[in-house]
Amino acid sequence: MNFIDPHIHIASRTTDDLAVMARMGCVLVAEPAFWMGYDRSGTNSFHDYFRQLTEWEPRRCANYGIHHCVWMGINAKEAEDVGFAREVIAELPQFLDRPDVLGVGEIGLHKCTKNEVATLEALIDLALSSNEQMLFHTPHLEDKYKGTRMILDLLANEPRVDPARVCIDHCEEHTIRLALEAGCWAGITLYPTTKATPERTADMVELYGSERLLVNSSADWGPSNPLAVPDFMFTMRKRGHGPAAIRQTVYDNPLRFMRASRNFRFTPPDGSSA
Ligand SMILES: [Zn+2]
Repeated sequence: MNFIDPHIHIASRTTDDLAVMARMGCVLVAEPAFWMGYDRSGTNSFHDYFRQLTEWEPRRCANYGIHHCVWMGINAKEAEDVGFAREVIAELPQFLDRPDVLGVGEIGLHKCTKNEVATLEALIDLALSSNEQMLFHTPHLEDKYKGTRMILDLLANEPRVDPARVCIDHCEEHTIRLALEAGCWAGITLYPTTKATPERTADMVELYGSERLLVNSSADWGPSNPLAVPDFMFTMRKRGHGPAAIRQTVYDNPLRFMRASRNFRFTPPDGSSA
């Protein structure tokens, strides 16, 4: 069965990873702009990274028959210096009109500081003023509930936000309901050590239904697995879920969400319009 990984950091993956993903049925990935494993020293570093995401990574993926999309933004880990962040944000509009740019992401909170919130407000304003979809990173472990709550409150206070065009990512058992009740898409990240396992993700699908759930590997520089989505599919199969239910979560849903982005260009390999 074909699948989509709607949140994966391809820049950190090898060509061997891409080859195996393709063999396992991956046809489409979305790569949010993120941290590069180190803090960047100037806006030029971000500029080159944005070119990498929109020019070179799509080509690397295309070599394996995988269509590559991207989210443009500045991540929460590098959002603390508000002045610097504003210089990076000024670079973003020139990239937002490029093919297969899905919107502004991944943006959000890391330590939930005042400065992170100031940068996040500027990014949300950029997204809304250019009619972009948004992808939100939520903090790790002990800060997750508080950060998710803060992000959803910011969105609720902004009348221009359409929650159906927002994904709150890295949801876990204690935050998924918040995202869904706000009318947003809820992303679940499968990590080997933190975030969610395939089993816990299958539990959440069974509890909340899969209508607005997205499942991703977020495979990046840390311990992570670019084949986490097929692992989740296997877990769902072991529990007796049929192909249509599995396909909804790992293919139909991400496609439906991405199709609301104005620059999305993907044509499914089977010609379907699902
Ligand atoms: Zn990420």
